[in-house]
Amino acid sequence: MNANYIEELNEGQRAAVLYNDGPSLVIAGAGSGKTRVLTYKIAYLLENNYQPWNILALTFTNKAAREMKERIARQVGAQRARHLWMGTFHSIFLRILHVEAANIGFTSQFTIYDTSDSKSLVRSIIKEMGLDEKVYKPGSVQARISNAKNHLVSPAGYAANKEAYEGDCAAKMPAIRDIYRRYWERCRQADAMDFDDLLFYTFILFRDHPEVLARYQEQFRYILVDEYQDTNYAQHSIVLQLAKGHQHVCVVGDDAQSIYSFRGADIDNILYFTKVYPDTKVFKLEQNYRSTQTIVCAANSLIEKNQRQIRKEVFSEKEKGEAIGVFQAYSDVEEGDIVINKIAELRRSEHYVYSDFAILYRTNAQSRVFEEAMRKRGMPYRIYGGLSFYQRKEIKDVIAYFRLVVNPNDEEAFKRIINYPARGIGETTVGKIIAAATENNVSLWNALCEPLTYGLNFNKGTHTKLQGFRDLIVSFIEGVAEKNAYEIGTEIIRQSGIINDVCQDNSPENLSRKENIEELVNGVSDFCAMRLEEGNPNVSLTDFLSEVSLLTDQDSDKDGDDEKITLMTVHSAKGLEFKNVFVVGMEENLFPSGMVGDSPRALEEERRLFYVAITRAEEHCFLSYARTRFRYGKMEFGSPSRFLKDIDIRFLRLPQDTGLGSKVDEEAGHFRRENSGGFSRSPHARESLYNSEKETSQRPKQQIIAPSVPRNLKRVTPSASPVAPSSASAMAVQQGQLIEHERFGLGEVINVEGNGDNAKATIRFKNAGDKQLLLRFARFKII
Ligand code: ATP
Ligand code: MG
Repeated sequence: MNANYIEELNEGQRAAVLYNDGPSLVIAGAGSGKTRVLTYKIAYLLENNYQPWNILALTFTNKAAREMKERIARQVGAQRARHLWMGTFHSIFLRILHVEAANIGFTSQFTIYDTSDSKSLVRSIIKEMGLDEKVYKPGSVQARISNAKNHLVSPAGYAANKEAYEGDCAAKMPAIRDIYRRYWERCRQADAMDFDDLLFYTFILFRDHPEVLARYQEQFRYILVDEYQDTNYAQHSIVLQLAKGHQHVCVVGDDAQSIYSFRGADIDNILYFTKVYPDTKVFKLEQNYRSTQTIVCAANSLIEKNQRQIRKEVFSEKEKGEAIGVFQAYSDVEEGDIVINKIAELRRSEHYVYSDFAILYRTNAQSRVFEEAMRKRGMPYRIYGGLSFYQRKEIKDVIAYFRLVVNPNDEEAFKRIINYPARGIGETTVGKIIAAATENNVSLWNALCEPLTYGLNFNKGTHTKLQGFRDLIVSFIEGVAEKNAYEIGTEIIRQSGIINDVCQDNSPENLSRKENIEELVNGVSDFCAMRLEEGNPNVSLTDFLSEVSLLTDQDSDKDGDDEKITLMTVHSAKGLEFKNVFVVGMEENLFPSGMVGDSPRALEEERRLFYVAITRAEEHCFLSYARTRFRYGKMEFGSPSRFLKDIDIRFLRLPQDTGLGSKVDEEAGHFRRENSGGFSRSPHARESLYNSEKETSQRPKQQIIAPSVPRNLKRVTPSASPVAPSSASAMAVQQGQLIEHERFGLGEVINVEGNGDNAKATIRFKNAGDKQLLLRFARFKII
């Protein structure tokens, strides 16, 4: 952005930025500048009589909010930009709820239950109610509770209308409404909110306290929302509450990118926006500025196959670009090698840097083979999602101490640390405390502090241990008032015994736990320093907890300009862009997911997800699939995803023998065919990929138990031969032969050595480089 930043917009975008007299909806395809419109509109408002604290901008990730803020800061100065109310729905509402907590019966110190805390509480309740966990699976009960909250249905509402909310589950899980009620009460008892509560209680706050709502309506004179297609009913309703008077609301979105219905997102929010806000001015943007013409046309041809959508023309005036390359691999391992080879090749031939590449997959588990391939090559990468830093056990333990000190009523934190580090307080004792607390409607902490009042009578030993724990926490609580987050944080880590616990030996696990705790301490220290710079010298532990309780790995500050290949799920890639994108695992039952079943709606959502994936690419896009893949502990055969056929063949470069519309391909003529491994192997790759088949044993254990052998492949076991002086000759494996290996694909035998069980062959694989295989274990056929 510069002084003439309005000139950097096309006509449609400019009109959308300049229209500020009423509600507006920008509905447009991927890469057409929706986020740019929001960013420039905020800069424009700031230059036209709006104060930063009068603007509420809601984004889907903290990362998106940060990027937007940085751009605006360059235009209007960091000082002004800092005061914008910009962030995710959850983080903004958390901020409001901290101030207004008393209005809804919480203290301002309330803590947040993350997904695993919620699940653990659901599990406890199921247990206490004597229900069968096989029928009442904690995960699915939790999902139902979450769904109810996202539709603003309270336990009372749920019980009153069980037909609507339980459907066919009513018969199977009649107790679900009681679990929900107990769960609700227990969270209140613990002065804790789960993620969904942050939305639900904000709605309740505004609904039941018109004077509070009026204050925020007056403050937020302009409301802007990015990725509106992925809002749920609760989010939509809160925006409606806030915008009711002035109706200065601008939302941008793309119905074709609605991909969160499993979390309650409702595409109708965007489809019916003009009905809810009758005076809405609608802007449509059609020019894509991100991708080559080929990528845009390919994405258009894909999304056309969906019935339920707002038809849009999206075009690009960038260069035509190359067809989307499709790679076929024999196995997931070979898929990893193919992708990594291609990255190496493009980096060499077109001078890309590592951060120009992204590998996108449908499920987190797919990242492992790519990680292995990159680690072997020494290529730098960064994985988003998966097990986030804040989900690691040692970090959760420390955070649980922090939480309990800030809010002693926090039940999940209490249960997590009452006997960590081990202090001899067993499950039976904890069970008694829970039972007494539940019976008397008090928190576990209350029961611990006044055992006799609540009918708890422990023997002397147990009583002393419980008292020791209580005194420890009380001593920290006393420190919280006078110490900043860093001081009290380090004191807790030291005096609770956590540091001793992780330093008891030098095992790699403990070293890594220790490093993670040190990293957390650095995080607290950075946080205090940052707040200090902003003029806030008294940073409390509560401030720190509010900051981290909603963070995910995706939001880490360490991303950005790192020179690293990005690995992430397609879901997390929404809104982002990369020069080169690999969408991997394009197989039936993976993408589209096997969960789709017969549901046309679910299939359309998967297709939108694929649309999101392709449209992240600026210059090159590649799709790959594997014929076999290790999943759930066994080898599975895959067939290419039906979505590959949804893309107009003219925009694809297919491998041979896929059966993916090759006739059309021949007719089209001008697109080059290429075998999956039609690019050269780097010498470096050959060296580092040198590995014996024994590496199989590095796969997770369950994956090597009874590996199934593909139908057309013999499992070659030389030792099975009655006479095996030379297994190589027994198998007739000879130098120069071509083989097809179950995981590494096509290769040529370049050397055979050793006898019997020790017989080995060196095979030069087309994509996986040279490998030395112990023939006893090798799984290939001679072709
Ligand atoms: P998505 O649907 O993926 O969220 P989007 O519609 O939000 O995409 P942006 O991310 O705002 O699109 O823009 C896509 C890319 O195009 C960005 O790199 C942006 O800077 C660029 N861009 C947008 N509008 C223009 C323009 N008028 N001139 C030049 N570049 C533009
Ligand atoms: Mg965007």
